[in-house]
This record gives sequence, structure tokens and C-alpha cells, in this order.
Amino acid sequence: MALAMEISTLAQAMQLHARLLKSGQEDPTHFQNLSKLFTFSALSPSGDLTYARHILTNLRTPNSYYYNTMIRAYSDSPDPTRSITLFLSMHCRREEQPGVVVPGPDKFTYPFVLKACSKLRNTQMGKQIHGLILKSGLISDRYVNNALIHMYAGCGDSSLALKVFDEMSERDVVSWTSMIDGFVDNNRPIEAIKLFELMMESGVDPNEATLVSVLRACADTGALSIGKKVHSFVKEKDLSMKANVGTALIDMYVKCGCIDDARRVFDETMDKDVYAWTAMISGLASHGLSEEAMEHFELMKSCNVKPDERTMTAVLSACRNAGWIGKGLYHIRSMKKYKLRPTIQHYGCIVDTFVRAGQLDEAEQFIRKMMPIDPDVVLWRTLLWGCKVHGDVERSKRLLKDVELLKMDSRDCGSYILLGNVYAATGNWKEKAKMRELMNQRGLVKTPGSSRIEIDGNIHEFTAGDSRHVEAEHIYAKLNEMEENVRREGYDPKVSEVLLEIDDDEKASQLLHHSEKLAVSFGLIKTDPGTAIRIVKNLRSCEDCHSFMKLISKLYQREIIIRDRIRYHHFKDGECSCGDRW
Ligand code: ZN
Ligand code: ZN
Repeated sequence: MALAMEISTLAQAMQLHARLLKSGQEDPTHFQNLSKLFTFSALSPSGDLTYARHILTNLRTPNSYYYNTMIRAYSDSPDPTRSITLFLSMHCRREEQPGVVVPGPDKFTYPFVLKACSKLRNTQMGKQIHGLILKSGLISDRYVNNALIHMYAGCGDSSLALKVFDEMSERDVVSWTSMIDGFVDNNRPIEAIKLFELMMESGVDPNEATLVSVLRACADTGALSIGKKVHSFVKEKDLSMKANVGTALIDMYVKCGCIDDARRVFDETMDKDVYAWTAMISGLASHGLSEEAMEHFELMKSCNVKPDERTMTAVLSACRNAGWIGKGLYHIRSMKKYKLRPTIQHYGCIVDTFVRAGQLDEAEQFIRKMMPIDPDVVLWRTLLWGCKVHGDVERSKRLLKDVELLKMDSRDCGSYILLGNVYAATGNWKEKAKMRELMNQRGLVKTPGSSRIEIDGNIHEFTAGDSRHVEAEHIYAKLNEMEENVRREGYDPKVSEVLLEIDDDEKASQLLHHSEKLAVSFGLIKTDPGTAIRIVKNLRSCEDCHSFMKLISKLYQREIIIRDRIRYHHFKDGECSCGDRW
């Protein structure tokens, strides 16, 4: 113990090592001290992996502890491949020095090397190690299995992770949590929620990590009623004070459109860290409450919490959503004060602020002259989108010539679709058709728009023109009734939103069948009068859907809350919280 306390710098560690070597092996504390020294060098933040490796190489009788510790340290290092290399030499029992026998891997070795595979997203290596585990007879070990689940999920293969999970004879809270987390990380939030429910039924008590994971799944899908159940559980177990659970709850309520509940949880959270503050500021910003977001930012600073990059993204989006160009510029400059360097996301917020205000000249100048980093495809697309919205045909023609968007990112559909739309807006149907052709040739498929709504704990998902739902007939009948009603209020389908060469009637019916309209129709059928309808959409809503929702909120006296890819729209009494800026 005394020795461990003596070591606080590498120089001290090295001195000690020299002393140990001098003292020779007759000293009975030699091995104990050497092991402490080695552990310090490999695992401490101020340790030195090269030095640890040096100790390992010079051991005459290395045991598996030394190897496992080294493999673990490498898997956490910036270069996890070294973890795999060392594992392989352990597996082959390769001699490092003549006459020195290398120990074989044991149940502690595998989880560390699997972690390295996960970090490298190397499924092939992971599978090979899985094969070795099967041969080694350790496959019934729970610890090893949990690591396998984690590895497959981390490599992006949640199906293989599930296979390991299913075949386990005994699962603990870590197994369940790794699997739930794996589903969330791999964009399968509905399965994550189902698995969580199964976990509760099977009597396994979730821990903080499980709750954080399932709350993320609820946030992704907008599953408010399940999120609320988790919240009651959190209160029951008295975990609500924990900052990480509090942050996950804030985020869940924000993303389910319940900003009041988010505020309440935020106020109750003790020891708010930068994540909790950022979740709240970002939530307020996305709900169009820019003033309040800025008040929270000031409060945060007065509590001596230092903002990080994400906080600044939230602050800049608050400025963007409110149309505050001057403030946005002030805050991006102030980042230096906190030793933060603005990233392309931060610059993107500023460009977007200019674009939304119709200041396309300023936006272009900012991209070309004021940014110290190269613009990416997203930034140019923001500007082009602005040209389309503000009808600046000349600029879009010039940009199309100057900026070779397709060369910058030829695998992203976004550029093709936007360019197609810009060409269509300039009346150039030939070029528009070419974009579609290019997309087909390159095998690119547009992400279909989809909207989710939760009714009684079940998530219903709709795509445009969807007729798969069991109640499809009802939904379409209701939608027709809705359309008749809003048309009487002066609704006129904005057919320019459907930039296809088809006639107006057909365009109108395509618009009517956008996924969020189907979801709202279903919501009106399934919920009691006066209940708010909450929808999560994966893409941005179109202008037509936006004006449709405003009228529906007034005619049917319903609050409609739609979360799209970028922000929230609270429709109430014919108005939207975004003030028609989106
Ligand atoms: Zn639409
Ligand atoms: Zn809106």
C-alpha cells in the first residue's frame, strides 16, 4: 500500500523500478511491488504503456495477470490493435524471450480483447475470437458472454448480439443492459423497449445504466407512456437525484414534446453537470423557447459549470431558431473564452441563421471568407436550400457550377435530391431527371419519410401512402374528412412541394398521404377529445404538412406536437410554436 502511494509520477515509478531491480529477488516483497508498479504504469492516467510493456517483456515468469492487464490497457488506448496483437501472442503461447513461457488466455482475457474488437468495429476478428472461446470451454461463462454481446452490438451487429443473448442459460443485469443498449445504438429502439419490458417481467432489477438506455429508446421513438413508467420506477428506487438518470429523463421528456416535465426533472436534479444543463438548454432551444434557453445558459455559467461543444451547439441553435444573427456571431466568437474551437456544426448554425433570414449574400460570404475551416457538403446544401426557398435562381445556378456537391459526397442521397429540386425550381427538368438516374445507377435509395405515434404503449409507424396498418381504411376515411374540413378553411395543397412531373390532382393526393398526416388521422381516431397528439418524424416536415397541421389543431381543438429531424412544432389554435421558421 505504502508503495502505491509513493508512486504518483512516472519518474518516481522508474526510480522505484531501478531500486527493485537492485534489491534482487531474495526480497520477498519484490513481486508484490513489481506488480503494483506494473499496474500503475499500465492503467493509471499518468502511466506509460511503453514502460509497462517493457516490464512485461523482461519478466522471467509472467503470469496471466500481467498479460490481461496489458491487453486491457491497450484496449482503452488510442491504438486498440495492439491489444489484439498481444492477445494473439498469448493465444499462440509465443515466447517473447528464450526460455520464458507465455501463459494461455483465461476468462478475464477475452472481455478485454473483445472490447478492442468493438472499438475497432472489427466483426471478423470478433467472430474468430468467439470461435476460440467456444473451443476453450468458456462459453458458459456469463462474464465472457456479456462481453460478446457488447462486442457484436458495438460492431453494429445487434442480430448476432441477440443470438448470444438468447443462448445464454443465465442472464444478469449486465447481459440485459448490454443487449438493450445494443438495440438503442443500432437504431432499433422499439426492440430495446420490448426487451426492457421482458426484463422487468423476468424479475431482474434494472440498474442506472439500464434506465439510461431505455430512456434513450423512449426518446428516440417518442414512447411517452413507457418513459413515464420508467420515471415512476426511478422515483420509487430513489435514483432521480443521479445526474446521469436525470439527464436521460430530461432528454426523454424533451424529445416526447413535454417541455414542462423536462423542466420539473431538471429542477429536481441535484448536482447538475454540464450534460444536464446542455440537455435542458438544447431542449428549450428545439422547442422554440430561445429566450429561456439563453437564460439557462447564463445561469449555468453563474453556477461555474463550463460549457462544452454540445452546449455551444444548443446555444447557437437557440440563436438560429429565434433568428438572432448578432447574438449567434457573438457566442461563436466567445467559444475561445472556454478554450473551445468551433466545429463545422457550430459554423453550420450561423450559416443556417443567415439563410433563414434570407441573407444569402452574407451566408455565402461567411462560408467563403470567414470560416477558418473548409466548408462541408452540408453547409453548401444549406445555402442551396436557401436559394430554392428564397427563389434565388441566379445564385443557385452559380453555386451549381462552382461547388461540385456530388464530388464532395457522392454516396449521400441528400445532395441528389436537393440538386434535383433546385433544377426543377429553375425549370430544368432534363437535369432533374439526370439526378434521379444517377441515384439509381449508384444504387442510392432515399430514406423514406416515416412518422411514429404511441397509442396505449404501442408504437405505430407510418410511411407515405402506407396501407399496411390494420385500420388503414378508417385512417384514410378520417383523412378525407379532415381534408374537406380544412379546405373549407381555405387550405390549398402546396403542390410545388411535390416536384415531380405529374398533374396537380395526383400531386395533391400524394401530399395528403404524407406519413405525419396519416399518423395524426390515427391519433384523432384513437384518443379522447382534447388529448394532445405527439408524433415523431424522421425527416423534416414539408410546408404543406405544416399548414395542414395548423388548421387541424384549430378545427379539432387538439394540440399537435411534431418532432422532426431538426426541431419541434407545437401546433395549437391554428398557430405553430416555430413561428413558421423551420
Ligand atoms: Zn408533408
Ligand atoms: Zn412549426
